[in-house]
This record gives sequence, C-alpha cells and structure tokens, in this order.
Amino acid sequence: MSHHQIIIVGGGNAGISVAAQLFRKNSKLDIAIIDPADKHYYQPAWTLVGGGAFDVQKTVRNEAEVMPKQAKWIKEACMSFQPEKNEVTTSGGTYTYDYLIVAPGIQLNWGAIKGLPETISKNDVCSNYSFQTVPYTFEVLKNFKGGKAIFHNPHTPVKCGGAPHKIMYLAADYFRKNGLLDKADIQYWSGAARLFAVDKYEKTLLEVCERANIKLNLMQRLEEIDGPNKKARFVGMAESNMGQETWVDYDMIHISPPQSAPDFVKSSPLANELGWVDVNINTLQHNKFNNIFSLGDAAGLPISKTGAAIRKQAPVVVGNLLSLMENEKLGNSYNGYTSCPLVTGYGKLVLAEFDYNNTPMETFPFDQSKERWSMYQLKKQVLPRMYWSQILKGKA
Ligand SMILES: Cc1cc2nc3c(=O)[nH]c(=O)nc-3n(C[C@H](O)[C@H](O)[C@H](O)COP(=O)(O)OP(=O)(O)OC[C@H]3O[C@@H](n4cnc5c(N)ncnc54)[C@H](O)[C@@H]3O)c2cc1C
Repeated sequence: MSHHQIIIVGGGNAGISVAAQLFRKNSKLDIAIIDPADKHYYQPAWTLVGGGAFDVQKTVRNEAEVMPKQAKWIKEACMSFQPEKNEVTTSGGTYTYDYLIVAPGIQLNWGAIKGLPETISKNDVCSNYSFQTVPYTFEVLKNFKGGKAIFHNPHTPVKCGGAPHKIMYLAADYFRKNGLLDKADIQYWSGAARLFAVDKYEKTLLEVCERANIKLNLMQRLEEIDGPNKKARFVGMAESNMGQETWVDYDMIHISPPQSAPDFVKSSPLANELGWVDVNINTLQHNKFNNIFSLGDAAGLPISKTGAAIRKQAPVVVGNLLSLMENEKLGNSYNGYTSCPLVTGYGKLVLAEFDYNNTPMETFPFDQSKERWSMYQLKKQVLPRMYWSQILKGKA
C-alpha cells in the first residue's frame, strides 16, 4: 500500500485529524499535507476568549508542532485541482496523487460587508471569528457603559452556527454581573429565519433571550457598516420586508463575517453548485472522482460546520479510503452528527448534538437542552486539552 501517494489539502482540524488517524492504521502510508499556514488554531475556544474567560494564547500552536512526524509538509497554498490528471497545483508547483483529501476549511469574506475591513477591531466593532480580532471583543464588553449592543449573524452558512449568538449570551451575563443589563438594549440581527435549527435547543435559547430582554430581528442581511458614526445598514430578506433598508445605530456590534467555500474550491471541478466540495453525504467520497474525499468545513454537507462533526467524519474518511485502496466496498457512513456547545452564560451551557434530520443525538444520560455547569466545564477544561492531545493525534 505504501507506494500510493495520498495528498491532503489543508492541515487544520480536519486535515491533521485524518492524517494522524491514517498513520495510526498504517505508519508506512505516504501522506503529504499541503498548507501554507505557520499557525494552527483551536477556534472553538474563541467564544470564551471573547467573553474574557479563556487565554487566547492557549488557542494557538505552531503548525509544525501539530504536523504528524511521518507526513511530508508542503508549505504552499493550493490554487487549483486537475482531477482528470490526479494533480493539484500550488503556489510552488504541481503535485500528483493517487488519493486526495480536500479539507481547506471555510473562507471568511470580511470584504463582503462594505466598510467592515476598515473598522473591524476599532470603533467598538468586534468579531470572535479570527485569532487577530477575538481579543478586542472582550475590550468592547469592558468598555460598554449601556446602550445598544448588536450581535450579527450573516445570511450565509457559518462555521459553528451557535458562535454568532453564544457571545451574545455571554455578553448579557457580563453586563448583568456588572449591573449594566438594565441599561443594555441587546439585539440580535440575523440573516437566518430562526435562532437555532433544532426545536429542543432553540426553546432554551429563546428563554435565555427573554431573561436578558434580547430582541430578535430575523431575515436581515448586513450590507454596510459605518464605524466612525457607529451605524450599520441592514436589508430585509423576508417576503414581508424584502429589500427594505434599515440603518441601525449601536454602541457596540459583534460581527460574524459572511462565509463561503474557498474561492479555489468554488472555481474548481470539485465544487457542487454552491461551491463546496461535492461529496456523497454518507461516504464522504466525491460524487464524480472516486479517489477524492472531503470533510470539515469545506465539504458539501448539509450540517452545521463544526469540529465536533469532524470527529465523526474523520474515521469515515479513513475507513473508506483504506477500503478503496484495498478495492473493497466502502462500509463507513456518516450520519450528519454535529454538536454545538451553546454557552448561555458564565458557567452555563446547553450541549446541542444532532444529525442530518435535526434529530437530537445526545451523549449523556440527561436532558442536554438544560443549561448545565458540568457541560460548561466540558467546553472550557476538557475539550481544549482533548483537542491538542487526542484529536490531533488521531486518538479520539
Ligand atoms: C468563533 C468560533 C467558534 C467555534 N465554536 C465551535 C465549537 O464550540 N465547537 C465546534 O466543534 N466547532 C466550533 N467552531 C468550528 C470549528 O473551529 C471548525 O468547524 C473547524 O476548525 C473546521 O476544521 P477544518 O479543518 O475544516 O478547517 P480549519 O480548522 O479552519 O483549517 C483549514 C486549514 O486549511 C488551510 N488552508 C486554507 N486555504 C488553503 C489553501 N489554499 N491551500 C492549503 N491549505 C489551505 C488553512 O491554513 C487551515 O490550516 C468554531 C469556530 C469559530 C470561528
């Protein structure tokens, strides 16, 4: 088997997990990982960083430290795919593979909101969506003296569907602890039709909103932000308000940038009509090219894009790829499992877990739609350690 060349595009959560698991099955495999990044991030902790409850330095390591020793690291950016020739082209050259795993994550389109690149991390405009911007979120919460606090969710798919509102619940709790909740007008402006896709967990979240008097404005797309004048322009997306413009003044705003498949995937023969890698949603094998698999945020799967989902996808890709290499039937199937640890305050968390049908798939023998201290500890203490020591080593 070892003479086969496997190339993995993307050495993030998905790429490194899959490589590590493959090596645990067969340490002689020939695997190259293409990724230009110097740093590797544990992004799920950024919600807590934004709330001032986690050290941002604990969310970053050098990519070299997480790269499996047996892998060949091609430190270049992938630019295009030529699947008919089994080739990928990068900033540094062209490489041939026998098997390809595509896992370059999701693209953050900061520039899709007019004025955002100029004002992010200034003027009380913050975002938990990157290592560079996340520390400013807590600065903004600390600076808040009352007034209008806006939390935005874009009209596109995002990584971690809960992240745009989890920081809102933390902020509300922070204001409450500092005696500011009565002076705060907290508003959620979202491009989606509802707060959360699964009834069971949405019910609890709506109660959390009620507790902090949070107002929901749904089906609103953020188009423009005027940082110096502290106002944002939203455009209605529902039948009742289609195209209607609203300028909203604010004292602080948390923005989750619009997101999409990476441009080089979108424009490639691997993409589906929405731009994501076109895979079978159960086997994770490409629908046109048998020797290609995809997982993680870039894969065309109708689920909430999370690291938790990758934990269930990685063994499926590994099992099916090894079967394919042995000319065996692909026997592993992914059921759409994803999980969102919904932080609802300091020391409070609802652990949402569900599948492709939005049917809850809970791990623990209690009602996970209830806010719990134990689940908050799982997110804050257990999962970050497990990520670095187990998940990236292919052990969990
Ligand atoms: C604020 C926030 C909160 C979150 N909360 C949670 C949570 O509570 N629970 C949870 O499970 N998940 C959460 N997530 C989501 C989770 O972090 C992602 O789903 C996960 O990191 C996706 O892994 P990935 O490997 O697909 O992409 P990433 O981990 O983003 O990695 C993509 C990799 O591809 C590389 N790459 C990009 N372009 C190229 C290219 N052209 N060529 C080669 N390589 C390239 C990048 O350098 C990067 O290393 C959160 C994310 C954010 C931002």
